[in-house]
Amino acid sequence: MDKISVWKNVDDKTTIYDFADSYIDFLNANKTEREVVNASIQMLKGKGDFFVRNIRKKALVVAKPSKDILSTGMRIIAAHIDVPRIDLKPTPLYEEQDLVLLKTHYYGGIRKYQWLSIPLSIHGVVVTKDEKVKEIVIGEDEGEPVFTIPDLLPHLSREQQEKKIKEFAKGEELNVLFGSYPKEKKKEKGKENPVLKNILDLLESRYGIEEEDLISAELELVPAWKARNVGLDESLIGGYGHDDRICAYSALKALLSVEKMKKVPTVILFDKEEIGSEGNTGANSQIVTDFIMELLESLGIDPTYRNIRYVIEKSSVISADVTAGLHPTYPEVLDKYNAAKIGYGIVLTKYTGHGGKGGSSDAHAEFVGEVRGIYNKADVRWQTGELGKVDLGGGGTVAKFLAQLGLQVIDSGPPLLAMHSPFEIVSKGDLFHTYKGYKAFLEG
Ligand SMILES: [Zn+2]
Repeated sequence: MDKISVWKNVDDKTTIYDFADSYIDFLNANKTEREVVNASIQMLKGKGDFFVRNIRKKALVVAKPSKDILSTGMRIIAAHIDVPRIDLKPTPLYEEQDLVLLKTHYYGGIRKYQWLSIPLSIHGVVVTKDEKVKEIVIGEDEGEPVFTIPDLLPHLSREQQEKKIKEFAKGEELNVLFGSYPKEKKKEKGKENPVLKNILDLLESRYGIEEEDLISAELELVPAWKARNVGLDESLIGGYGHDDRICAYSALKALLSVEKMKKVPTVILFDKEEIGSEGNTGANSQIVTDFIMELLESLGIDPTYRNIRYVIEKSSVISADVTAGLHPTYPEVLDKYNAAKIGYGIVLTKYTGHGGKGGSSDAHAEFVGEVRGIYNKADVRWQTGELGKVDLGGGGTVAKFLAQLGLQVIDSGPPLLAMHSPFEIVSKGDLFHTYKGYKAFLEG
């Protein structure tokens, strides 16, 4: 089957490139799930009557309500806004060889060597002993310091290079350089850890944070660099966090541009997808049913179990997540007859999973047909895709948790190169057709 390029019949690419510019701004301004929740609420402000639920500042559900919900159901786009990163341990600070470092515990599936010797910024919150929440961002503005996990020099890495990639840079070796200036200039007995003392003074004077406050903190190390145009023709975007903020952003933009609605258009931004959709902000929780209950209540409809089930039975979901694009240098990891290609539009992924569809929800043919029809009618460039060759590996999304509720679900999002790396690549055309696809689905 022939795929159609997103660039076919595009004489003026301004609309596509402009959309990409605003997405790049969004990526650069928002590097954690909390920041994305705040920015999303700002995006929606004054733009219509939305029913919004902020779930512990890390997940968000937004709908354009309608009294017809019992007979129509909802059209839901569900993305996730957490991204693989490096978290600080509860007691991170230590001094070694007159250097202060931070102990970390990585979050989600990373190739650890990709995080060595790159500039990192710190984002997050610290709750002080009087339970004040301090928001911290260090390393984004020019002139602010950044942090890094220094790699070994090639001259002395003969042993290290023999290691398998899996063992190369162990979790306990991802220690972040945090300072080297001693408080006392002379080393005296009883005055140990002079560099650490100076760092603790700086934390206190600049941020009002004591060492123990770091126990009640969520501080994330993320790449300090900005998202950028990639390629001489500027047709691609490189950046941190496309997975899955590209879907979150496209979904919000789609919701804001819905012109006619048949069902209740809804966007869900989940947290914790990258670690299995766990916790009370992840998809494997009561977020969706609680939201439907509260939405019904707000519309003056009795939120009985039966009414909630009516809504679920009539609703359908796009699990909005990225997928693997066919890599020009490593095409062998995908089946080229079923792989998604960069620049050929949003991908319909019937199933994910691994080893014989394990852990996948596998969309029903009827629903695949329905979404296919919606995309075709709206002139959305789309293609099919699979997450890797059979038996090679694989992965999952929030789809199966939503399917468990009884919702119709299919995975659909843009293809990426270098997924989960600190600099993921996406085509501007694929971004635009992802937005177009989500808009058509929300309206359909
Ligand atoms: Zn994802």
